[in-house]
Amino acid sequence: MKLKSLTLNGFKSFAEKTTIEFRHGLTAIVGPNGSGKSNLIEAIRWVLGEQSAKSLRGSKMPDVIFAGSTKQQALNRAEVELLLDNSDHFLPMESTEIAIDRRIYRNGESEYLLNGKNVRLKDITDLLLDTGLGRDSFSIISQGKVEQIFSSKPVERRQIIEEAAGILKYKQERTSAQNK
Ligand code: ATP
Ligand code: MG
Repeated sequence: MKLKSLTLNGFKSFAEKTTIEFRHGLTAIVGPNGSGKSNLIEAIRWVLGEQSAKSLRGSKMPDVIFAGSTKQQALNRAEVELLLDNSDHFLPMESTEIAIDRRIYRNGESEYLLNGKNVRLKDITDLLLDTGLGRDSFSIISQGKVEQIFSSKPVERRQIIEEAAGILKYKQERTSAQNK
């Protein structure tokens, strides 16, 4: 499974529809301060279901919508689409390409789509759990996260190991079965 492309439309500083294609090998994103590098990484976390506006440097979720500039008016909607190459069927879906889409409107209303169909956030988190791509997984190491791992409590550190080992999914299923 590989990232194929990321498309932003009205997300943070990306007022215009912008697509970044991930080719083979390593992709590096470079640019001056304030040019939107961190916004791109936040877009990936957001489309994967990030729920904390604060961790996206905002105070409420609609803050991710383009807020306007001297040249351009604010927008009413933000959308991010992450396209995955699933030709190895790493994710348990038949399709060889998986599109995960998230939209949000100024009134706070938001929606998720999986290959063009409306789904719940839970469908996305379930699909990605234990794959290393989930919003809380260790495929995204932000500034401060390394330190956080070292200073975390043993129980929290165990969760990190369980996620990496791929057993978190079974634990969550057991808990939800016990609660039924
Ligand atoms: P650095 O090199 O300093 O880390 P960076 O390339 O990571 O910079 P970002 O932090 O991604 O830059 O981008 C910050 C810019 O995004 C700021 O100019 C900020 O005003 C703009 N920005 C953030 N949210 C919005 C929004 N909702 N609407 C418009 N612009 C926004
Ligand atoms: Mg940055």
